[in-house]
Amino acid sequence: MQHRIVVVGGGAGGLELATRLGRTLGKRGRAKITLVDANLTHIWKPLLHEVAAGSLNSSEDELNYVAQAKWNHFEFQLGRMSGLDRAGKRVFLAPTHDEYGIEMVPERELGYDTLVIAVGSTTNDFGTKGAAEHCIFLDTRQQAERFHRKLLSHYMHAHANGSDGQPGTIDMAIVGAGATGVELAAELLHAARELAAYGLNQIQPENVHITLIEAGPRVLPGLPERIGAPVAQTLAKLGVTVLTDAAVSEVTEQGLHTKSGQFVPASLKVWAAGIRAPGFLAELDGLESNRINQLVVRPTLQTTRDDDIFAFGDCAACPQPDSERNVPPRAQAAHQQASLLAKSLRLRLEGKALPTYRYRDYGSLISLSSFSAVGNLMGNLTGNVMLEGWLARMFYISLYRMHQIALYGIVRTSLMMLGDRIAKGTVPRLKLH
Ligand SMILES: Cc1cc2nc3c(=O)[nH]c(=O)nc-3n(C[C@H](O)[C@H](O)[C@H](O)COP(=O)(O)OP(=O)(O)OC[C@H]3O[C@@H](n4cnc5c(N)ncnc54)[C@H](O)[C@@H]3O)c2cc1C
Repeated sequence: MQHRIVVVGGGAGGLELATRLGRTLGKRGRAKITLVDANLTHIWKPLLHEVAAGSLNSSEDELNYVAQAKWNHFEFQLGRMSGLDRAGKRVFLAPTHDEYGIEMVPERELGYDTLVIAVGSTTNDFGTKGAAEHCIFLDTRQQAERFHRKLLSHYMHAHANGSDGQPGTIDMAIVGAGATGVELAAELLHAARELAAYGLNQIQPENVHITLIEAGPRVLPGLPERIGAPVAQTLAKLGVTVLTDAAVSEVTEQGLHTKSGQFVPASLKVWAAGIRAPGFLAELDGLESNRINQLVVRPTLQTTRDDDIFAFGDCAACPQPDSERNVPPRAQAAHQQASLLAKSLRLRLEGKALPTYRYRDYGSLISLSSFSAVGNLMGNLTGNVMLEGWLARMFYISLYRMHQIALYGIVRTSLMMLGDRIAKGTVPRLKLH
């Protein structure tokens, strides 16, 4: 019987891996590759803040798993993993329902010889009172689109009531001044300008009030100060209010309370601080997990208690040899691990030793929408180089292009880039529905 490799989770890492394995082992009939995802389409998660602001139309950048599977010699199964039987080598999938509650696929199980878990992470609100109820998280396309609809409805409401002469305002708050929060703030200010330019000018850009609330001592606490400082300056110039050393203690419909007693009024609230892996991983048939539900893996990306089960990307706690910290939950890491696993799983079939993973940090880039981009690049030859402006923006975009090249190849990615350029002149610059 053919060796069965099941990859669960078709995100930044899992989809790249299934595609690479399909093109090699699947195409040559050396293994049967199956990708499982809870959705029918994939959108690269780092684009979600652009979907929320409306600068990106998610239906134009989504990839259909069924078609990708057909083109790349793997099989796609729609389903949400809910459990595991290690002894019987079976993955359990919960039933999937459509938006009307009608069952699309039933509960079932899937056999494997090698299992790779890449189910990503979700936002961690640390159990803060009212956060889940009143904040929007940016974990899925649906959540990002929901935020966008709420934003537009504020504008449409103000537009419809335009004749009463009152200038409209919007108060928005973003919890977490990490990369996602900072980039979202800039993207929302850009959207405010675009919306006004399209005639929805009852809310003028200067009346869009954005507050970034950060529990740490500064903007971008996880990145070097020399990136954080220019970003903080740009945000200040753009009129974003930044509260640092401010931990949110409660969220209500009216706004957010901090532990120190401050109240930030906000009608639109986004929680973009912290991650945790999906809850079902915490009790997955005896596999080792940590306090944020990540599966603990060895440097080969095999789980500590089962050689036949690998985990990578945001849902895995992968040690780093020279650091007390695990590999960070970033698209860059998921991309590198997918490339390594594509090799490892081939070597495994040949009975050879597996290579170990070492995270290579190629730098961090922060895009402040059309206003600016700041970051650093790290290379063996160049050392640590600071970048700003247009060049930083180009390198920022290149991370997504690398993901597209892994999925579509260079020729199709180039044609898609050309298509994007042409489409720019024919569609609104902002999604207006
Ligand atoms: C708004 C935003 C901006 C970001 N910007 C950046 C950035 O600029 N640079 C950067 O390096 N990183 C960025 N990140 C982080 C980056 O997106 C993640 O590190 C990366 O997507 C992790 O890849 P992954 O494959 O582990 O998981 P994901 O890409 O999250 O994919 C997980 C997949 O698993 C599927 N899934 C989940 N649960 C199940 C289940 N039970 N059964 C089946 N399928 C399941 C999901 O549908 C999804 O397709 C950003 C994140 C966000 C939210």
